[in-house]
Amino acid sequence: MRVVKWGEKSLLEVSKPVEEINDYIRELISEMFKTMYEENGIGLAGPQVGVNLRLAVIGLDGKEYVVINPQILETSQELHVMEEGCLSMPGVYAPATRPKRVKVQYMDLDGRRRTIDADGMLAKVFQHEIDHLDGMLYIHRADEETRERTIKRYERKQANAAKRRRRRRH
Ligand code: ZN
Repeated sequence: MRVVKWGEKSLLEVSKPVEEINDYIRELISEMFKTMYEENGIGLAGPQVGVNLRLAVIGLDGKEYVVINPQILETSQELHVMEEGCLSMPGVYAPATRPKRVKVQYMDLDGRRRTIDADGMLAKVFQHEIDHLDGMLYIHRADEETRERTIKRYERKQANAAKRRRRRRH
């Protein structure tokens, strides 16, 4: 599975709810876990593999979460600034500000409704993935200057990588 990169359309679209958990969804989820681990990520959302459905996979501290049609029920007043990165913008990182704790309701792969109270890193990952379903990246949780700087840094890296690839061909 190829991970969609910054600049591609599906990343900025609002995704649609999953209406039925069928073989297509089960296969998709399994491929997404595989891709996430291959890329050394801790989360991957539908739009990042070109599928604009409200689903994501998370793998953190030896635990796996299949997150379908998630909804944030509560967020803490307390905010937290953490450095984030994204498989759709490889090679760059920037601090993003988010609520420190969130309560999220979602469906698992068996269609069971689950609620989780997440704190710290797990809260950050849940919010990061849910943002993807709303067409947002973590850079949208940073101030404008940081956002612009991070995008420029990423684009410069991409341009340099393309140059290196061209040189190798000659
Ligand atoms: Zn991401």
